[in-house]
Amino acid sequence: MPSRTEPGSTDTSRTRLIERLMEQFPHVPREAVIKEDLLRGGLAFDESALSDNEDGDVKPKSYFIFSFDHGTLPELGAAALRRPPEEIVLTGGPYELRRTVVSVRVNPSSPYRVAADADGVLGLYLDGRRISDVGLPPMPDYYRHTLDNGKSVMEVAPTIQWGYLVYLTVFRVCQYFGAKEECQYCDINHNWRQHKAAGRPYTGVKPVEEVLEALAIIDRYDTAKTSTAYTLTGGAITSHIGGRDEADFYGQYAKAIEERFPGRWIGKVVAQALPKADVQRFHDYGVQIYHPNYEVWDRRLFELYCPGKERYVGRDEWHRRILDSADVFGARNVIPNFVAGVEMAEPFGFTTVKEAIDSTTEGLRFFMSHGITPRFTTWCPEPTTPLGRTNPDGAPLEYHIRLLDAYRSTMEEYGLSSPPGYGPPGPGRAVFSVSSFMDSLPAREEDPA
Ligand code: SF4
Repeated sequence: MPSRTEPGSTDTSRTRLIERLMEQFPHVPREAVIKEDLLRGGLAFDESALSDNEDGDVKPKSYFIFSFDHGTLPELGAAALRRPPEEIVLTGGPYELRRTVVSVRVNPSSPYRVAADADGVLGLYLDGRRISDVGLPPMPDYYRHTLDNGKSVMEVAPTIQWGYLVYLTVFRVCQYFGAKEECQYCDINHNWRQHKAAGRPYTGVKPVEEVLEALAIIDRYDTAKTSTAYTLTGGAITSHIGGRDEADFYGQYAKAIEERFPGRWIGKVVAQALPKADVQRFHDYGVQIYHPNYEVWDRRLFELYCPGKERYVGRDEWHRRILDSADVFGARNVIPNFVAGVEMAEPFGFTTVKEAIDSTTEGLRFFMSHGITPRFTTWCPEPTTPLGRTNPDGAPLEYHIRLLDAYRSTMEEYGLSSPPGYGPPGPGRAVFSVSSFMDSLPAREEDPA
């Protein structure tokens, strides 16, 4: 493919990179190439493309669990005062992109920039050249209402994935604490501190009643029933919160939600890989999908980069429990996540894309051979994390593209299809916004185009 860069542009290296990869991997949707690059490296916003927080017409970024930014709030300039949108949707342009939903990760020095042209029409610019139209998420009606205590729905029950998923981070910190326990790429504890420092509302433990009140507002005003699933999540609980262990703590929300809104949403929980009896409790509380995230497959990297998980559970036991939980939930409903890219993080990560993909594919084969379909989020190297500090550029884009390729072919090898609870698969249809795995899987006939 010849370079489509306009003459006069100075640094076009990123454009050349994405065009080379589009040419080299024609079976990976070109939408996914751009989406992965935006997710791993972030994008900049002109002030004209920022939201007016909760008072405007654009749905603002909620900071639903991690910061997912390439700078701390004080480093983001105007984007710290007027939040960027939660997501953007790309269409058209020289690559003729089909509708592609991308989670927003702010990086003021990214070669990608969202800006308005002279007519006020937003576009995505790469290396100074317009490469797609940009749509912003409209402010949902339910964000315009507050709880009786004045808290916003965005703070208590934000929605992401273009409104598909209600993201309930009910515990905003992690009990794996400090350098010897926190996952080395995770800024959940820092993110909590920085929002507190900025004076933003950011509830550490969300009371069940507040969650139910926020969901009642969503249920009432989401008349199109776009919201389809909820995720209960937060930090690991190694002891107790309010006298409850992890299964009972997260489970109490599922129980209350299912009693109040039976069957309204698909209930999911992200938690540690727990013993089978605890996993059974999740199921009994009404959770339908279980995410015991294994983070990174390689043994040494898991030990070094997930020291809390290694210390409290251990890699082999973690994997055993994932397999055991299929007896409770059914293999299709056990969907462990890994963080795509950290296996290439210095100082201990793989130094070649091939080694990284070989290792990660070994993990995919392990789980998929048991009917379990992992999924992944694209690593965002947040600067306050140990791995973000030493790897500000994240993993190479080629790694992410090869991973999409390997993921799809491994799924096909084991006769698996896209996991439940993620909305429609396929380019132009997917709404999952924090990696392109759904954009890269085949579309289903039953989903509207
Ligand atoms: S378990 Fe790891 S990734 Fe999850 S919140 Fe705790 S430190 Fe972060």
